[in-house]
Amino acid sequence: MTAVLWLRRDLRRGDQPALHEAAADGPVVPLFVIDPQLWQQAGPVRQAWLAANVLAADHAYDGHLCVRMGRPEAVVAQVAAQSDARRIHVSRETTPTGVRRDARVRSRLAEQDVALIETGTPYAVGPGLIRTKAGEPYQVFTPFSRAWREHGWPAPAPAPHRLNLGSAESDSDAHGLLQQARKACPILLPVAGEEAAQTRWRQFADTHLDSYATGRDRPDLDVTSHLSADLKTGAIHPRTMLADIGARRGDGVQRFITELAWREFYADVLWHHPRSAWHDLRPALGGLSYDDPNESAVDVEAWKHGRTGFPFVDAGMRQLAETGWMHNRVRMVTASFLTKDLHQWWPIGARHFLAHLIDGDIASNNHGWQWVAGTGTDASPYFRVFNPVTQGKRVDPDGRYVRRWVPELRHLPGAAAHEPWHDPAGYDHGYPQRILDHREERQESLARYEAARRLH
Ligand code: FAD
Repeated sequence: MTAVLWLRRDLRRGDQPALHEAAADGPVVPLFVIDPQLWQQAGPVRQAWLAANVLAADHAYDGHLCVRMGRPEAVVAQVAAQSDARRIHVSRETTPTGVRRDARVRSRLAEQDVALIETGTPYAVGPGLIRTKAGEPYQVFTPFSRAWREHGWPAPAPAPHRLNLGSAESDSDAHGLLQQARKACPILLPVAGEEAAQTRWRQFADTHLDSYATGRDRPDLDVTSHLSADLKTGAIHPRTMLADIGARRGDGVQRFITELAWREFYADVLWHHPRSAWHDLRPALGGLSYDDPNESAVDVEAWKHGRTGFPFVDAGMRQLAETGWMHNRVRMVTASFLTKDLHQWWPIGARHFLAHLIDGDIASNNHGWQWVAGTGTDASPYFRVFNPVTQGKRVDPDGRYVRRWVPELRHLPGAAAHEPWHDPAGYDHGYPQRILDHREERQESLARYEAARRLH
């Protein structure tokens, strides 16, 4: 009997447990549904990245991917009826929006006696599975990560013995929309899809994995994997990487596994605390006062456009705007600048990041923001306010990262690019003056945090 494989955050053919299950039923109709509401929210860069990945998945499924647009509950039910399928196979979704959507789809399908079968998740260990001995969710990362490693992860899913791909007609409007989104992309994106992700992974594993522990913090060296956007679409699964790593040893390997564990941890936190997507996870700083975003609009715009006058912050924000990606250390410093120098509530920055990041992920992004803001798990202590200048000089010692993204500072040699105010020619090429005094705003931030702590 025909089965439908509904692809969502798992746009690949290899290491695909849900495909394995679906193929056991008979011919498989692969399906992708564009939900117009989510599509509208995504913005041109994320739309283009998704479009490129869906088109690549169509290629991976030999042109059989059925792409339709509409409310998922209506579209999936329609494709099931048209294909005479009794089972719709998916990998389990664990974000609040995904869980709600799947509940709607499940009950709609039940009306026509069709089952939604969940196999696997976008994670090595499904969110919700790692618990303390008392059966409670972990609240902090290190013990979670230890338990996650002890739990272990399944081997990659074998390719189905026989794969007979069926097809259902695509919606020509939906296909057109994808083509158009890909063409209209305002920036140059990486090559998308499973093959490209595998290539990126192999190149990283061969060249930079062993030295990852020392190189990962250096945006100027740019030696991290850049796989976050592939993990986001599911072009590659973390289980595949963990299996490839196998028994490889060394600090770099261990550190990389730890970073994958952060992704799993944040997904687990979101699964247990869906409200934390847009609200402070820890109420300890409830009552913290923020500046009115309308009154600070000019400064917030300067932050968004990389014109704060702080070279390292501006380099990061411009990298984000020009590539849809930003180095982790710079994400921390730019997020700290918005929350602790501009005194804005973290969701303002989280929304901006999500609109521009091709790896934009509600769990990693919004909990990453809360980590910086001091309201999340393992929150960096409230008194830690990143100094945007000393941070820059530490992890970009020769100023190469700054010069790469801020052309107005290319005439300044070495670390001088981090402090144009010390150079008589610093502002000769139109770089803006600093919009604030970091030392003063740091004091202001600490005073506000102290006041909020006294309330509890
Ligand atoms: P690598 O250093 O090669 O790491 C390998 C993988 O581990 C990454 O691809 C990612 O999946 C995972 N990882 C690494 N660091 C983290 C981390 N701190 N938290 C969770 N997972 C991690 N990551 C996203 O995938 N999407 C986001 O929207 C996102 N927003 C962030 C916002 C802020 C404010 C901060 C501080 C961090 C955010 N991160 C986010 C985490 C991290 O910055 C990116 O995962 C990383 O920079 C991606 O680059 P990479 O693939 O080269 O990472």
